[in-house]
Amino acid sequence: MRRRCLAAGMFLGLAMGAAATDAPMAGGEAASLQRADRIKTSNHAEFVQILHRLEQERARLPPEQQSYLRYLEAWQVAYAGDYERASSQLGAVIGQSDDPVLRVRALATLVNILGVGHRYEEAFARMSQMLEQLPRIDDKAVRYQALGEAAQLLIAAGQYELAVGYADQMLADLPPGESACKAMFFKLHARYRSGEAREPDAVFQEGVDTCVKAGEILVANAMRADVAALDMRRGRVADAIALLEKNYADVRRDQYPSLTAQVDGLLAQAYWTQGNVEKSEHFAHAVIDNGIKGEYTEPLSQAYEVLYRIARQRGDFPAALAWHEKYMAADKGYLDDVGARTLAYQMVRQQVQARKEQVDALNKQNQILQLQQALDRKAVETSRLYIVLLLTVLGFIALWLYRLKRSQLRFMRLARRDGLTGIYNRQHFVAEAEQALAYARRSARGASLVLLDLDHFKQINDSHGHAVGDQVLKQAVAVCQQHLRSTDIFGRLGGEEFGILLPECPIDQVLARAERIRREIEALSGDGHDSVVTASLGVASTARSGYELRQLLVDADAALYRAKRAGRNRVVSGHADAEDCAAAG
Ligand code: GH3
Ligand code: MG
Ligand code: MG
Repeated sequence: MRRRCLAAGMFLGLAMGAAATDAPMAGGEAASLQRADRIKTSNHAEFVQILHRLEQERARLPPEQQSYLRYLEAWQVAYAGDYERASSQLGAVIGQSDDPVLRVRALATLVNILGVGHRYEEAFARMSQMLEQLPRIDDKAVRYQALGEAAQLLIAAGQYELAVGYADQMLADLPPGESACKAMFFKLHARYRSGEAREPDAVFQEGVDTCVKAGEILVANAMRADVAALDMRRGRVADAIALLEKNYADVRRDQYPSLTAQVDGLLAQAYWTQGNVEKSEHFAHAVIDNGIKGEYTEPLSQAYEVLYRIARQRGDFPAALAWHEKYMAADKGYLDDVGARTLAYQMVRQQVQARKEQVDALNKQNQILQLQQALDRKAVETSRLYIVLLLTVLGFIALWLYRLKRSQLRFMRLARRDGLTGIYNRQHFVAEAEQALAYARRSARGASLVLLDLDHFKQINDSHGHAVGDQVLKQAVAVCQQHLRSTDIFGRLGGEEFGILLPECPIDQVLARAERIRREIEALSGDGHDSVVTASLGVASTARSGYELRQLLVDADAALYRAKRAGRNRVVSGHADAEDCAAAG
């Protein structure tokens, strides 16, 4: 069976399972179990043989060896890709074994496969269970594995600071014979994904060197992919291509699908940026061909986007529309998955918090009851005191419910908003816009879509730094907000690209508002920085494009593209009669 555990976004999980623990176990079976454990990846065939042999003698084994065997069986089932069965077997080991080390190992394996299987809420619940037990584990290899699983899952959920914390613990407490490679990877990957690492600095090179020296070429190449992505962000596309191409054969040989897709996706983007359409197209197709059907990932979404842009540039509009449709589906699928991970983390954290508060509240109630009993004994019942006691208890319960509700609302909000600007994120924008368009269609009213993209934004970042770039993004959002009605839907669709859906606004008014926004963004130039800030805007409306959001996005994007080509800092409408309604200021 195909090892699906290697297919999804998770890294290194089962492969890094800690080897046999040093728990002393006498006798032939104990030695066999430990040997099986040690060789499970290096000599998988023998591992399976030993398991078969031990399974015949299961009934004779003492309970702790039975648990150990069950754990190894579950590991094997997971390795073969049957997550469903592996999960329930691991659950049984966790519930039944008396050995804390075995329980944590089973939890770590379970966290990994639940993450790979997109069962995030269970994954986080198991992760907190695992972390709670960790202080009692002395076995360094097991701690290392558990911390690695936690770091990896937290990165997937966008909890980068926590992930770095766990990676640091791994580095501070390396098991004997283990290199710092994986811990460095988790740490650097978290720094890259969080946007904190702006440059592939010396630490990245040190990480790559450490992994190469330890023979962990796969992890080294995963780090190189981050280095290349950072190079691209800084505009050093040729460096990125050189690095990725140099190690491309190794990446292919390792057959680790998520890394291959990541590298192919980066190359597709890099070659597109360089204007090498043929190679860009080749690598974009490689991402699609090697992906798992129905699994939406970031590289897949990037690949469709590149193919959409290529088709558009060639003037092949039917193909462009088809690719765009796939891009939207993949992008939405991928972002939904990211949202699900984040939300699951928040929910589990909230549940853990709620449990703690519940325990607190119960403790307080207990204290009150004890007090009450003491009072009873002293026979000093006054009804007033009882009322006070009762009110206190009720007060605690009300407070607890209020806190719970408040944190639920906060998490809902977090999952829908863009972290930097506070406006809707892409996912929520799409959901809201689709709803508004459905309403507009039913009531036969029009709507327009404006796409806004800041011009040469990369230059602002490059010459003034990301902090100034972030500031400009917030200012641009504030400008837009001044021109929006409460019924308009406003979201950040990507880095420096925004979407505004305006229901029931005549096209001439939409264009006039877009033009005012353009002028005011231009007026931001030099505000606290000496850079030129301008934006290009593309407009589409239901009168021309119909009520499907994806068609509106394609048409508004085509108009935006024309605005860029015509020299930027202008509004272009998808309506030929209103074309170039405003020229450069
Ligand atoms: P064009 O006029 O063609 O749109 O050029 P551009 O440089 O604006 O476009 P491009 O898409 O090549 O670059 C967008 C840049 O936006 C690249 C990225 O570094 C930057 N960016 C994306 N998100 C953020 C962010 O959250 N903060 C900052 N400061 N920069 C960001
Ligand atoms: Mg731009
Ligand atoms: Mg852009």
